[in-house]
Parts: sequence; C-alpha cells; structure tokens
Amino acid sequence: MSRSVLTISNLRKEYGATLAVDDVSFSVERNEIVGLLGPNGAGKTTTINMILGVLEPSSGNIQIEGIDIATGRLQALERTNFAAVYAPLPGNLTVWQNLRVFGLMYGVKNLSDRIETLLAQFDLREFRDMKCGVLSSGEQTRVCLAKAMLNRPNLLLLDEPTASLDPATAREIRMKIRELTARGSGGVLWTSHNMYEVEAVCDRVLFLSHGKILLEGDPRTLPREHGKQTLEDLFITVAREPLALERD
Ligand code: ATP
Repeated sequence: MSRSVLTISNLRKEYGATLAVDDVSFSVERNEIVGLLGPNGAGKTTTINMILGVLEPSSGNIQIEGIDIATGRLQALERTNFAAVYAPLPGNLTVWQNLRVFGLMYGVKNLSDRIETLLAQFDLREFRDMKCGVLSSGEQTRVCLAKAMLNRPNLLLLDEPTASLDPATAREIRMKIRELTARGSGGVLWTSHNMYEVEAVCDRVLFLSHGKILLEGDPRTLPREHGKQTLEDLFITVAREPLALERD
C-alpha cells in the first residue's frame, strides 16, 4: 500500500479569466489530517470539487491511493467520501433511509450492521426514523459525517465539518475523527475557518491564497516561524498581505 492517500500535482482550474487554483501540488499521507486553509475565495472548494471528480481540472493530476482520477474515476472514488454543510442529505428521507441509500450506492457489505455501528458512533440512534429535513443543522451534520464513513474511506474530505455544531459536539466530532484517522488506514483533508480547531485537529496545514499554496507546515509551530503569535494572526496576514509572506 502506498503511503500517500492523495497526491496532487500542478493542479490548475480556470473559470474564464479567473484562475481559482494555480499550480497546486500537495499530498495527504495515511493516518494524517491535513488542513486546507485560506480566506474566502482562495480556491479550497474548487480544489475539493476537483478531487471529488465534480469539476474537471484545467490541467494537472490527481491520484487517490495511486489511482489517477482522470482514468480510474470510479475506482478512485470508491475509496473516497465527503461531508460539507452545503451538501445536505435528501431531507425527505429518514436518517436510516439515507444511510441505506448511500450504503447501497457505495456497495457497503453487511450494510445493516454498518449503519447500526455508525448510528451509535455518531449518537444518532434516537433519530433513525426521523426525516433528515426536520433535524437541527448540528444533527444533520452528524448524519452527513456518518454517511461519509459508510464505505470506510481511505480519503475523507471534510469541508468545514463542524461549522454548525455546538462547542461540545464539535469537540466530540474532532476527537472521533482524530481517533478514526489514527487507527484506520486513511487520511483526511479538512477545511476550516476555525484556527483553534485546526490546531487541535490537523497534523499539517496548507495555506492557500489566490489559488496558490503560500505556506505549509505544522499548525503549532508555523506561526512562530513567520513571526506571528497565533495561527489566527498568521491566517489574517495570509488573507491581507500574501505578498509580504511570499517575500519572507
Ligand atoms: P470559501 O471559503 O468562501 O468557501 P473557497 O476557498 O472555497 O472560498 P472557491 O469557492 O474555490 O473558494 O472559489 C475560488 C475562486 O473561484 C473565487 O474567486 C470564486 O469566485 C471563483 N469561482 C468559484 N466557482 C466559480 C464558478 N463556477 N464560476 C466562476 N468563478 C468561480
């Protein structure tokens, strides 16, 4: 098994005159959580959508566990899953029905057992027969995370997964994902605007600005390396004065 679950090389995406992703290269290793950070419009969602095969890159290469998604899309995506607040599950299906439908789509073996495990893991047993549309946004997020774990993905893409969770639930979810990543065989690409969360969760971060990776490193040491006290200070500098950092 190769160590990298995701390898991105020279990825670019143009929308007309807008260069949303500009020659981006990085990898995510097994048992690693990588934070993809950057201000609004930096290119994070565009990058994630290219990894998911939803958007076609203008150029560059994406490999999931060594499989090029341009030529082995289905095989690569079988190993992948995703959760984001902007991609809720169908609201007219119950929690159980949603997990069943997605489980069937992913060809999950022993699906009923897998669903029971996930309902317990994400504290969703009491909601199993409720329609997803009536759940609170935090409860819906937990269902999305359970759905994202159905196929035991080796690459998990989480786009602001705790954005609508209360602090206690958000902490539990972070700990759960850290634990699953540490003892599983996969890696996680995690976007967040919450720098406290990023420090708590990510082994490594990539700062994107105007579609380019400006900085990469350990979120606990990177701020000092660039003369900043906190990750938030560094983030604000990247957002406001990316050129100052490029000159560092
Ligand atoms: P946010 O934190 O706000 O979600 P982001 O880092 O995810 O931002 P993207 O959504 O990837 O940023 O957008 C990157 C750039 O590409 C932005 O300038 C955006 O306006 C532009 N963009 C995104 N989608 C399209 C599209 N379909 N057509 C034209 N421009 C687009």
